[in-house]
Formats: sequence, C-alpha cells, structure tokens
Amino acid sequence: MKNAIYSLFILLLIASCGSNPHKATEKEYIEKLKVLKDKISEHESKTLPVVSKTVISIDTSYSNVLYRFSDTITKTGNKTLQNGRETEWIGTVNFNLRKPNFIILHHTAQDSIEQTIRTFTLTRTQVSAHYIIGDDGRVIQMLNDYLRAWHAGTGSWGKIKDMNSNSIGIELDNNGSEPFSEAQITSLMALLSKLQKEFNIPKENIIGHADIAPSRKKDPSALFPWKTLSENGFGLWPDDTLEPAPSDFNIVQALRIIGYDTNNLKATITAFKLHYIQNEVDSVIDEKTINTIYSIYKKSL
Ligand SMILES: [Zn+2]
Repeated sequence: MKNAIYSLFILLLIASCGSNPHKATEKEYIEKLKVLKDKISEHESKTLPVVSKTVISIDTSYSNVLYRFSDTITKTGNKTLQNGRETEWIGTVNFNLRKPNFIILHHTAQDSIEQTIRTFTLTRTQVSAHYIIGDDGRVIQMLNDYLRAWHAGTGSWGKIKDMNSNSIGIELDNNGSEPFSEAQITSLMALLSKLQKEFNIPKENIIGHADIAPSRKKDPSALFPWKTLSENGFGLWPDDTLEPAPSDFNIVQALRIIGYDTNNLKATITAFKLHYIQNEVDSVIDEKTINTIYSIYKKSL
C-alpha cells in the first residue's frame, strides 16, 4: 500500500513537472528573491572612510512597512490585461535590485537634527530621506538605499519626472542661512564616494533639490560648497576662465540639455545661479550667466 502511494506521488510529481517545465528555475527564482529580500531589510551600521559609523533608525513601524514591500517584490502569478489576455508567469533566474542613479542634496531648513529625525518618523508629514548629516559630521541613515524615500516631491530632471524612484536623498542639517561646517562636508563627501562607487552614479547626477524643482525649492543654499564637491569628483562646476558662448547659443535649449525644467525660465535661471554663480542669485541673464550656462552645458554633453 505504502509503495502504491509512493508511486502515485512520483507519478503526480512527474505529471506536474510535465505541465510546468520551468519548476526548476522557479525554485532558483524564489531563492534569489530571498537574498534580495534580505538585502532590502539590511540595516546594520556601515563604516564610512574618514567618518564615524552610520546609524539606521529602526523601529517597529519601519519593519512593518518593510514587511509589506517584501510581499510586493515576492508577488508572482498572472495578471489580466485590457484585451482579456492573461499574462503567464515564468520566473527568470537573472536579476537583481534596481539601483539609484541620482543623488539629491538638500538642507533641512530646520534647527536641529533631532527635529528632522522627528519629521521623518511621523506618518503625517509624508516626507523622508535616506540620510541626514549633522553639522558635527554625524551621519544618520533612515532608509535602505534600495528603497524609495519621499524627498524630491514634484520636479523633474531631463525627461525624468519621478525623481524619488531613481535617487538617494541626503539632507544636511542646516537652517538655510548658516554656513555648512567642514565636518559636515567631509562626512558628505565620504558618503558620496561610497554611494557613487556602489551604484556607479555619474558625477553630473549629483544635484541639488532646487535644480530639480526650481519654482518651489531653494536648497541647498548659496552657501553650499558645490565648487569643493566638484573638485573632489561630485557634481559639476564651471571653468575658472569662462569661454564666451557663441552668438547663436540658445540658453533655454542648453538649460534643458543640462536637465533643467525651463517652464518658468526666471525660476530656472535663479536655481542655476544658486548652484553655479553663488554670489549673484537672481534671474538676470547677463554675459557671465550665459557663459556659465555654456560652460556647464559643454560638461553635460
Ligand atoms: Zn529639499
């Protein structure tokens, strides 16, 4: 009897394998997914070169949200399309997690790092960032790099509208009118270097919040040392000696090629100057502004 049941089981197994020739790869898919699930739930401290350890704030509500997303990424099965056809599920074995491709820098416009941590841990604020850097150089991580924080808001860069989906947000604890401390910038550059290497982020994809939302945002402020960052391989900076732009140079087109939304040109020029001509933040299009746009435009090509 036992033997008969065993034979039946084997028969069923063969039959089921016959109906789904992809059973073996399906197992591999699930195993690979498990590794990726662990990766997005990772929250141990990592050591940055030259600065102290990062800390991730982990609590029950963070874990609860994470649990929901691990469900989302493990979902398989069929979906019905508009034309009535069902998609068929056959898991591939070649995949990994999508990577961020931009880093967006902000200043918190708040008075202390504790205030910002509180803002990012209250559901009603609906805002967050991956990292906050204190003016003492302390680095707090609040979200795994692979997950989507809510720091960019409405804005765009080039043709990309959903900047939260492809970026890491870094908030600098700064009220918007004070200088950025050396310790803070040293930690920022150490973090940028780690992220840039890990995700292969091009230097021109390290930009400010005002760059992607010129009509709404003014961070980081004109006191932010973009020049120092660029000297260290993060972001762009115009040439010291500006080459005169050709007489037919189209600044609107150039700003678009750099990435700016030019719907509100005055706001765009102001955001450009906030980043690249920091001692002259206005919407005036003088010769220096044109030649600076030309310099950045050439570096963006
Ligand atoms: Zn911001």
